[in-house]
Amino acid sequence: MHQPTKILPDRIPLVLATRNQGKIREFKSLLKDFNVELKTLDDFGPIPSVEENGETFEDNAVEKARFTARVLGFPALADDSGLVVDALGGEPGVHSARYAGEGASDAENNAKLLERMESVTDRKAEFWCVIAIAVPRGPALIYEGKCEGEITRQTAGASGFGYDPVFFYPLLGKTFAQLDTEEKNQVSHRGRALKELKDEFKKVLIWLQQRLLEEP
Ligand code: IMP
Repeated sequence: MHQPTKILPDRIPLVLATRNQGKIREFKSLLKDFNVELKTLDDFGPIPSVEENGETFEDNAVEKARFTARVLGFPALADDSGLVVDALGGEPGVHSARYAGEGASDAENNAKLLERMESVTDRKAEFWCVIAIAVPRGPALIYEGKCEGEITRQTAGASGFGYDPVFFYPLLGKTFAQLDTEEKNQVSHRGRALKELKDEFKKVLIWLQQRLLEEP
């Protein structure tokens, strides 16, 4: 039977699946020149939150993007990130936000990490960031960024958030908490994943158009 022609909106809608205002600002600024209608969770009523219990950053990012796309009926973008320490077998990893327990503060997480690293000489660590874009049904697109550094012996610096005061970036000779936002974004895991996404975004829009045309 003849299928009616589907008409897509002029600007493809994309929901940023986060309530973190810092991340929303970064994504909006990065994608401002593209033909995309960016929405955030705040543009919709209350929606259930998704459990972040995947074993990898990719699992969590894809699950968040898929869940949001399914619940809201629009394509969605989500990210997941954290710190991976070699000598601790990849800890804190996907547990970065709650390393010292559910609801732990950044200071508590940093204190636990420094304690676990007290007698460790191999201080190598990486920040990871994975960004996923998903439609209500079907596959997801993945973008990744990593940043290599070392865990300090004590905190240093006051900017940033999370593990920034204990993450030493040798190429600049400072911890992430001693860099300003601009400097950090140039080299950080999130900055790199975002750059990869931006470089590919024209193709992403075509991919999204095709997926939306295929949706029932
Ligand atoms: P999420 O991606 O917002 O779930 O971040 C998970 C956790 O990883 C954060 O709560 C931080 O503890 C840590 N993290 C992620 N990115 C950074 C960063 O750029 N600096 C410091 N800590 C980070």
